[in-house]
Amino acid sequence: MSTNTDTAAVANADLHCHSTYSDGLLRPQEIVRRAYANGVDLLALTDHDEVGGLGEARLAAQELGLKFIDGVEISVSWDDDTTVHIVALDIDPDHPALLAGLAQVRRGRGERASRMAAELDNVGIHGAHQGALRYVGNPALVGRSHFARYIVETGHAKDFRSVFDHWLAKGKPGYVAHSWATLAQALGWIGAAGGIAVMAHPGRYRLSNKTLRRLLAEFRELGGKGIEVLSGSHSDVDTREFARYAREFGFLASRASDFHGPGESRIDLGMLPRLPDNLTPVWGDFR
Ligand code: AMP
Ligand code: MN
Ligand code: MN
Ligand code: MN
Repeated sequence: MSTNTDTAAVANADLHCHSTYSDGLLRPQEIVRRAYANGVDLLALTDHDEVGGLGEARLAAQELGLKFIDGVEISVSWDDDTTVHIVALDIDPDHPALLAGLAQVRRGRGERASRMAAELDNVGIHGAHQGALRYVGNPALVGRSHFARYIVETGHAKDFRSVFDHWLAKGKPGYVAHSWATLAQALGWIGAAGGIAVMAHPGRYRLSNKTLRRLLAEFRELGGKGIEVLSGSHSDVDTREFARYAREFGFLASRASDFHGPGESRIDLGMLPRLPDNLTPVWGDFR
């Protein structure tokens, strides 16, 4: 559960980041210390499909007197072939339905990695599966970020961010379609675990306005409560756009660096701007 969650006086919330339990570069306690040093006063750790790092993070946060929220970022397949991410905040990290659901989502990453490696092998990037596994703390969570690090290491891309454009994004040689959870499943697990469901980085999905509205409406219908207005993946234009969507749909607004590690993320922990005016912060609803 959450620690010291008097959220009235929160000045610098950061409610989305990753540790070595998924595809981040820092251990949970290193994330917490870095967030604290950067002035964060309310932090959620949200590893992909995994809650294993929360205990270590919570302990480190307690030592520093930093308010900490248990979170997870769930991978969802929507509308056949669109991957969207749902951040769950203030969950009970021990809830059996949530744990069983996350275990189900994690299954299949190994097989997907083999297929990604085979595709990359065909275009001259050899040994990528073994190579990616060297960058993974938790082999069950092997994914595109770990492949990206190997591809940069072997000189097939100049830096972490350009890997995706050339090799790993949808339509590129190393992209393999995958079935994650359904939106209804993810929201069911989050609801069961008492959490608040937040649409992660909506600006990243490159959907038409019409499709985006359909996604947001379905998300709200299924119990979704918030969207990331501020995100490490958002431009200023995205931020203004999603502030408007938040007001229109009645969503709570989140502030989310999506930090993965030094050198890999555009925005460091706690370095986002203030939320735009006339929005209700999601952290007002924490227990
Ligand atoms: P996966 O869940 O294995 O498909 O990996 C998705 C992860 O890859 C995301 O959580 C990001 O960490 C990373 N990622 C995906 N697209 C990009 C991108 N364009 N730039 C940087 N990182 C990305
Ligand atoms: Mn990631
Ligand atoms: Mn994400
Ligand atoms: Mn993320």
